[in-house]
Amino acid sequence: MNQTRPTDNPYLLLTPGPLTTSPTVREAMLRDWCTWDRDYNELVQAIRQKLVRLATSQVEDYTSVLIQGSGSFCVEAVVSSAIPADGKLLVLTNGAYGDRIVEMAQIHGIPTEVIDFGEVTKADAEALEQKLAADATITHVAVVHSETTTGMLNPIKEIGEVAKKYGKVYIVDAMSSFGGIPMDAAELSIDFLISSANKCIQGVPGFGFVIAKTSALIKCKGIARTLSLDLYSQWKTMEEQNGKWRYTSPTHVVRAFYQALIELEAEGGVEKRYERYQRNQQLLAEGMERIGFRILLPKESQSPFITSFYYPESEAFTFAQLYERLKQAGFVIYPGKISQADTFRIGNIGEVYPEDIERLITAMENNRFWLE
Ligand SMILES: *Cc1c(COP(=O)(O)O)cnc(C)c1O
Repeated sequence: MNQTRPTDNPYLLLTPGPLTTSPTVREAMLRDWCTWDRDYNELVQAIRQKLVRLATSQVEDYTSVLIQGSGSFCVEAVVSSAIPADGKLLVLTNGAYGDRIVEMAQIHGIPTEVIDFGEVTKADAEALEQKLAADATITHVAVVHSETTTGMLNPIKEIGEVAKKYGKVYIVDAMSSFGGIPMDAAELSIDFLISSANKCIQGVPGFGFVIAKTSALIKCKGIARTLSLDLYSQWKTMEEQNGKWRYTSPTHVVRAFYQALIELEAEGGVEKRYERYQRNQQLLAEGMERIGFRILLPKESQSPFITSFYYPESEAFTFAQLYERLKQAGFVIYPGKISQADTFRIGNIGEVYPEDIERLITAMENNRFWLE
C-alpha cells in the first residue's frame, strides 16, 4: 500500500487538498455510473453511513448529507440553510477560512458577529463566553477546527462546551481535519460538522459533506436562501430516495471516495492515520528547523496537517524559485496566506509517508540557493 510516489504523478502534492491520492483511488474512477441506478445509490448510502460512523459513536443522533462542489459550497450550504431569519451568527476567526464564513453570512444578509483573534492566536472559549453572556440574540456559533491559513488547531471542545452552556447551535468547519484526527461530534457538542472529499479522507475533489445532528437538521426546513445549496432538501431527497442526489452528482468522484474510505479502514482507521500525519509533521518540523527554517506557530497551536514557515532572512530568497526547484525535485508546496509575515506552507496529508518527508528535507537542504 505504501506507494510513496506513484509513477503516473509527476510530483507529490504537499498541499492541503487537493492532495496526493493513491493509485487505487484514482483507478476507481475508470467506469461510468448511472445516477438513478440502485448500484450507485447504494454506494451513496454506504458512504453516508460510513461518514456518520467515522464522526461519532452516537450514530442514532446523527445523519449525513453529501453536496456537489468544493468544501466551501458545503460551508455555504450550512450557513445559508441553518440560521433562521430571526437568528444571528457568531464567528470565531483566526484566518482566511473563518473570514470566509463571515463573508458568506454577510452575502446572505444574516446578522453576524465576529470575534477576530488575529492570525497566530488560538480561538478562545473565554472570549466566546463573554460575548454570549453579553448578547443573548446570538443563536449560532461557528469556528474552523484546523485553520489551513496557518496550520492552527482551534480548541473545538472548549468552544463547544461554552456554546452548549448557552444553548447555541454549534457549527464546525472541520474541512482539513476530519478523518485525520480522532473526534466525536456528539462529545464535542457539534450540530453541523463540515468536510470535503479531498482532504484527510484522501479522495479526489468534487463534493463535500455535512454530518449533522438530525434534530438540528430537521429545523433547517424552509430556511434555505438558495435552491442548489438547500441542506435540508438535499438531505430529504437522499433519505427518501435511497441515496439519490437532487441534481447531477459527481459519480466518478463519489466512487473514488468510497475507495478512499475503504483505504482509511485498511490503514487502521482515523487513529492510525492521525499517527502517520503526526509523524509526518514532526519529521517536517524537525527537519526544516535543523536546516535553518523557523516555524510560524508555537507547538501547542500547531496542527498535524500543514505547517507555516517564515521565509529565510536573505535578499536572495524568493518563494517562486524555491517552488520551482522543489517541483523539479518532485514536490509541490504552497504559498503563505497571511498578512503579517512572509511565509510559505507545507502540507503533509494525503498519500504521503515519513520517507517522503525525509526526501523532501534532503531536497530542501540541497536547494538552499539563497545561501550560495
Ligand atoms: C479546504 C478548506 C475549505 C474549503 O475550501 P475549498 O477550496 O472550497 O475546498 C474550507 N475550510 C478549510 C479550513 C479548508 O482547509
